[in-house]
Amino acid sequence: MLRERLNQVEERIRNAVKRAGRERSEITLVAVTKKFPAAVVLEAFALGLRHFGENYVQEFEAKHPALAHLSDAGAQFHFIGHLQSNKARIATELFQVIETVDSEKLARRLDQIGTPLQVMIEVKLSEEDSKAGSAPHALLGLIEAIRACPNLQLTGLMTMPPWSADPEQSRPYFRRLAELARTHGLAKISMGMSNDLEAAIEEGSTHIRVGTALFGLRPKTG
Ligand SMILES: *Cc1c(COP(=O)(O)O)cnc(C)c1O
Repeated sequence: MLRERLNQVEERIRNAVKRAGRERSEITLVAVTKKFPAAVVLEAFALGLRHFGENYVQEFEAKHPALAHLSDAGAQFHFIGHLQSNKARIATELFQVIETVDSEKLARRLDQIGTPLQVMIEVKLSEEDSKAGSAPHALLGLIEAIRACPNLQLTGLMTMPPWSADPEQSRPYFRRLAELARTHGLAKISMGMSNDLEAAIEEGSTHIRVGTALFGLRPKTG
């Protein structure tokens, strides 16, 4: 099952890469395993996946004992949810990359812990109230603040457009994020999910975050 879905996702990536005149090696597939048990992560790792995205610190903390050995074998765990300052310490222990830094306060909190950490800035490009992220006008200040943090390595930008069944609705947000990354000299661009990964790759994504297309619908939790 997972093997077939992974093959389908890889084929979608290859097609998009070809259309965009890019190379497969420019794209990192981050498998989003939120709400799935540790066994699913192990299965994905066995099939060659090395980057995993998780949204909830507590959920991943519970799965972590079964997965910690994967880090030594090359796995990288990306935090892609909203991070509260009071979870910053444990997050630095569990994750190698925090993709969702969106305030100077959170950046300083992560830096103070003293563990070297890769971070990305989540940028809020839509007007939706529910979306986290730095406003584009605050981005330069946040970039400068993070670059002044000795333990944080700022590698890129991340965004999540408003959900739409039509991937073309996401494209203008992807284009905007890629533009911002170029402007600020940031190499990594985390954008594109199960339903719009092609548009994201065509617009310059380097990290697609894919859950449903790999693992099926997420189990409902109470
Ligand atoms: C859940 C989630 C994803 C994966 O979404 P799918 O549509 O299941 O591929 C990607 N990014 C973030 C930030 C998420 O919360």
